[in-house]
Amino acid sequence: MVRLLSAWRRDLVCRDAVALMTDYLEGALSPRQLARLQRHLAGCDGCDEYLRQLRATIGLLGSVQPEDLASETRQGLMDLFLHYRENEGDGDDVDDDDGGNT
Ligand SMILES: [Zn+2]
Repeated sequence: MVRLLSAWRRDLVCRDAVALMTDYLEGALSPRQLARLQRHLAGCDGCDEYLRQLRATIGLLGSVQPEDLASETRQGLMDLFLHYRENEGDGDDVDDDDGGNT
């Protein structure tokens, strides 16, 4: 995470913003929390980008629990995400022997 944005400590630190994101994606934020998060995202490119990736990853995998998406898991998720697509594009047709000679 970017630690240079300490100016946000007076309002919302990145760690808090990330913590709110999981609830945000579940639609579980109170209006006040939502407002604080949106204000933070408006001024923090790092968190804005993180939320974007979070959404994309969840949308792609579908069954991922937002609670599992700790900040440290992000890289692992991207790995999983890439691996997922790789497998999908591979098309594991084990049955390459069509047996056309009947
Ligand atoms: Zn932030």
